Amino acid sequence: MNAFSAHWFDGITSRMHAVTVARGDDGFVHVAGDDVDRREPLADLRISPRLGRTPRTIAFPDGARVLVADHPMLDDWFPQEDRLLRLVDRLERHAHAVAASIVLCVAALGAAAAWGIPWLSDRIAERVPASVEAKLGDGVLEQLDSRFGFGPSGLETAREADLRARFERVVAASGTDTTHRLEFRHADAVGANALALPGGTIVVTDDLVNALHDDRAFDAVIAHELGHQQHRHALRQTLRSSFVVILAAFFAGDVSAASTVVVGVPTFLLQSHYSRGFEEESDRSAFATLEATGESPAWFAEAMRALMAAHDEVAGDDVKYLSTHPSSAERIEAAEQAGAGFLERHPEKSRDVPGYDACEEEGVCEDEESPEDESESCGDDEVEPCLDEDAAPAPGE
Ligand SMILES: [Zn+2]
Repeated sequence: MNAFSAHWFDGITSRMHAVTVARGDDGFVHVAGDDVDRREPLADLRISPRLGRTPRTIAFPDGARVLVADHPMLDDWFPQEDRLLRLVDRLERHAHAVAASIVLCVAALGAAAAWGIPWLSDRIAERVPASVEAKLGDGVLEQLDSRFGFGPSGLETAREADLRARFERVVAASGTDTTHRLEFRHADAVGANALALPGGTIVVTDDLVNALHDDRAFDAVIAHELGHQQHRHALRQTLRSSFVVILAAFFAGDVSAASTVVVGVPTFLLQSHYSRGFEEESDRSAFATLEATGESPAWFAEAMRALMAAHDEVAGDDVKYLSTHPSSAERIEAAEQAGAGFLERHPEKSRDVPGYDACEEEGVCEDEESPEDESESCGDDEVEPCLDEDAAPAPGE
């Protein structure tokens, strides 16, 4: 026979009775002491799970309870039937197991952040209807104009019309079935940048137009932005970064969660940047689109180089395109390689590549061709020679 001292509660009043609890060989538990004398088959009693060093409760069928300090002997009385509880109980007693479970929890959180949230965000983005995305884009443009200092473009009407015609050509070549719109804006605070808004609008700043010295580089930037739109990058990336807020709003029943996205998109587009994976995905789209327009993907490399040169020139942070679409040697190299592949397939385009020097290659030099009117011939697609002087960067640099 074995016994413990314990406290008895009759389940009716809150009075505590000091008792002794003993188990007889007959399979009965005997509670005795302070006005109490109870016998109950052990099989009818239930014990609370062990939790650290807290006292345990033995429950009687009629609601009476015995509160007893934990003791290994109790395991003899109440052999643990539930395997899970037994496992939990064992783990709780081992410092290593506790430490391991903390590490496991942190790792699980990390994995959720690294893979779970992007995956879930993409599934949500897939389900956002095109009409909602277009509305979201309108809201974002409104925000850009009202809160981020975007104003009417200062480009000349004829220049704008030229670029719009090029835009339409690139959109047609991209094979998209989305309606795309081009918006020019003057935005001092933003400098040279191009933004692919959700829903199909592409915003290009005057500074970006001015930083590119060849319209084929403009086509390349547009083709790249169309790639971002085709893959819904702005929406996906914004969902990823504001996922926790949106999720919290969802569970709180706050339908204004959508406004979080409307505010989040312009902030993201202007202050953050796409993941490397998204950039490379858009680059590949751009190369295919450029090829479909009959232009070399190498123009994308040229655009990047022109923007980098412009960035070095202003010596400030005015070429935002590079901070929101991080450039890298690998991406420029990939564009050059795609350009080389393009030339193999279209040898007739050998003159239409960045850095082509007709003077050197063919002896057609600008001062012989149009000595009196140099500035006008620059920028004309048909006349290459002065392009290099303007655009400065040489191929492969
Ligand atoms: Zn980009």
